[in-house]
Amino acid sequence: MQNIPKNVLLLISIIVGIVFLYTFSSRSVTGNEISFSDFMDLVESGQMVNVTIKGNQIRGRTSAQEDFVTNSPRYYRELVPELYKRGVQFKIESTESNSFLFALLTSWLPIVLIIGVWIFFMRQMQGGNKIMGFGKSRSKMLDEDAKRYTFADVAGIEESKEELDEIVEFLKNPSKFEKLGGKIPTGVLLVGEPGTGKTLLAKAIAGEAQVAFFNISGSDFVEMFVGVGASRVRDLFSQARENAPGIIFIDEIDAVGRHRGAGLGGGNDEREQTLNQLLVELDGFDGNEGVIVIAATNRPDVLDSALTRPGRFDRQVVVPKPDINGRHKILGIHTRELKLDKDVDLKIIAQATPGFTGADLANLANESALIAARQNKKNIGMDDFEEARDKVMMGKERRSMVIPDDEKKTTAYHEAGHAIIAAVLEEVDPVHKVTIIPRGRALGLTMLLPEEDKYSQNESQLRGVLMMMMGGRAAEELIFNHFTTGASNDLERATALANRIVCNWGMSEDIGPIHLAASQEEVFLGRDLMRKRNISQTLANKLDKEISKIVNTAYSKAMTMLKENIDNLHKVAERLVQQETITGQEILDILHGATQT
Ligand code: ADP
Ligand code: MG
Ligand code: ZN
Repeated sequence: MQNIPKNVLLLISIIVGIVFLYTFSSRSVTGNEISFSDFMDLVESGQMVNVTIKGNQIRGRTSAQEDFVTNSPRYYRELVPELYKRGVQFKIESTESNSFLFALLTSWLPIVLIIGVWIFFMRQMQGGNKIMGFGKSRSKMLDEDAKRYTFADVAGIEESKEELDEIVEFLKNPSKFEKLGGKIPTGVLLVGEPGTGKTLLAKAIAGEAQVAFFNISGSDFVEMFVGVGASRVRDLFSQARENAPGIIFIDEIDAVGRHRGAGLGGGNDEREQTLNQLLVELDGFDGNEGVIVIAATNRPDVLDSALTRPGRFDRQVVVPKPDINGRHKILGIHTRELKLDKDVDLKIIAQATPGFTGADLANLANESALIAARQNKKNIGMDDFEEARDKVMMGKERRSMVIPDDEKKTTAYHEAGHAIIAAVLEEVDPVHKVTIIPRGRALGLTMLLPEEDKYSQNESQLRGVLMMMMGGRAAEELIFNHFTTGASNDLERATALANRIVCNWGMSEDIGPIHLAASQEEVFLGRDLMRKRNISQTLANKLDKEISKIVNTAYSKAMTMLKENIDNLHKVAERLVQQETITGQEILDILHGATQT
């Protein structure tokens, strides 16, 4: 490493030297530069006494001992007889004589430089001390920081942690396992959606066992230079062996571990070489060496089957999205260092964030701190969390957007329509809040608050959700007898849901329990290119009819329900226009107040 500055210095000094030499040799002529005509005038008037011609450059000295320089036309042959006639003493210098060195430099230097650079790079590639380290895995692969994490930093994925406990035990005390003749898996594949904490888990294993952590991402292997990926793999494994016990963590292994020969337009030879090398290393590997390979992916389906064979990544640990209790605990971890108001109830926040991953929750906690800080608050309040959640889920509020009054009224009735149906229907989650403050691309929102996470929904729940989705447009038609474009997103979602009711879940009378959905796999993966299901024209027609029937039924039911609750619809909408945001409780109050009278 110490040689780098020296080399660079040498290179710079050579360049500076050349530039200096060049300017020096061309500037060796001193004197005022004058035009050629002035020079000739001086000659003709007899003031020039001494002239030196070198190529087309002429130096002259006048009788007043002044020096002049000028350039002459190259073949101005009359100059010599003229000088001779005037009795000027003149000398003609060869242009080549003194610049032999210079000529040598200009003609040979570029070649020497090119060869030099070439040798330099070749040496870089072959090892020794290197700047770029082609082929060598990056030195920062050994992640010292990783040891700071422990299982206490990971929450909400208890089953995954339990499965990995065994690995920690082994890394802590390999001899115990060896004595019993136990066989430890060489490779563990963590499978889960982005942000569920796979990287965090891998680091926590290293931290729990206090072993070295080698971290590389699948995309690091796939480089521009052919063969680099493979040699990087080799190096990674040998480094890890030297530092055993330890963990090799390959993030995003799907980047290199894709099913070989897949994809359109031919495979990627470089990637395949890397993958092959990885397979070779895994095979020549014995868990008892004290090194365990952990890989992470969110696309286990695209991995080459050779990778998941016994003896390689034969152990799969699924890292799921956290459930409500998990979210509660994760929020606990990420608010440890935040100053919270007393009214902050993490349980309610966990309840209101279905589908959030650990990373989303970490982001939420951070976002709420930022929001509180922006208002110069001392503590972070529940409202900051609320605001942060809405922002993470739906984009920032656009309070500055000016909305005409009549449009505001339409939006209020639209949202009130959604809200009333959600509040009246038992099957639909209770309303959390309704707002007509634009956020992201939506003009208004009705937010529901699921009481618990749902893993499956029954048919009547789904139809209830459809009715709720149609409630907005139904309210618009009922009150104004015209439609606005504001409902297009509702319609899109409702149609998609109806489609799934029919095609995925077989919940329609006419079609019955048949799965007709097209495969969701991306086409470019190649594998499923030929697998798309063919549906006959008559069946397709039937499907379309069924879907539109389901949506239309939901719409007319929503309409009926709103007609029955028209007083409440007016009340909720008016309140919305006044307050812009109302809570689920307020809606319930309005509904119950109405039933009492
Ligand atoms: P992945 O590798 O699965 O995409 P990461 O491990 O990179 O996800 O998670 C990103 C961040 O999200 C972590 O650094 C951590 O702050 C937070 N996080 C994710 N999952 C959890 C969890 N289960 N418990 C605590 N924090 C989590
Ligand atoms: Mg990750
Ligand atoms: Zn709507």
